[in-house]
Amino acid sequence: ESAEISLKDIDHLAKSSFPLCMRHLYEKLKEDHHLKHGGRMQLGLFLKGVGLNLDDALAFWRAEFSQKVGAERFDKEYAYNIRHNYGREGKRTDYTPFSCQKVISSTPGVGDHHGCPFRHFSEENLRAALGRMGVGNRGMDDIIDKVRNRHYQVACTLTFEAVHGSTCDAGINHPNQYFIDSQKVLQ
Ligand code: SF4
Repeated sequence: ESAEISLKDIDHLAKSSFPLCMRHLYEKLKEDHHLKHGGRMQLGLFLKGVGLNLDDALAFWRAEFSQKVGAERFDKEYAYNIRHNYGREGKRTDYTPFSCQKVISSTPGVGDHHGCPFRHFSEENLRAALGRMGVGNRGMDDIIDKVRNRHYQVACTLTFEAVHGSTCDAGINHPNQYFIDSQKVLQ
């Protein structure tokens, strides 16, 4: 388990240590001030795993959603699900963050931003997203080659290595593992 992170660090951490799937959701949330249910689950549980506590999670989602739907509607319609993710509502299950396998096998529809970009983006969009992460031309072709052969987690591992300039021997199999390994390299 990772230590708690504070609200003010998320922006910086998203750029430095989030895997592409979570980085994409984070950027879309900041852009649209909204995410559909699948995206809220995928990013929300990831942030919980990263160490964002419930109060900070509520503040985080409220700050974005209130710009789109208003604070009142957020409190009425969306806050419940966030508390639910933290096991404070309903059956009080303490939900765990999604593994790569679960993210990769999800089926995002129109207007959804969840899923694994290595599987669910077009090649053009994936190249652009990887470029923004700082992947250079040489690394790019290797990554795209893995994607074409449907080795999505290997492609993500190569991305980790290209972005961090360091090897990742275990390979990526969980978005939260990507985050923890990244923090180890950067700290
Ligand atoms: Fe996220 Fe895993 Fe896909 Fe990487 S391989 S983008 S961590 S789901």
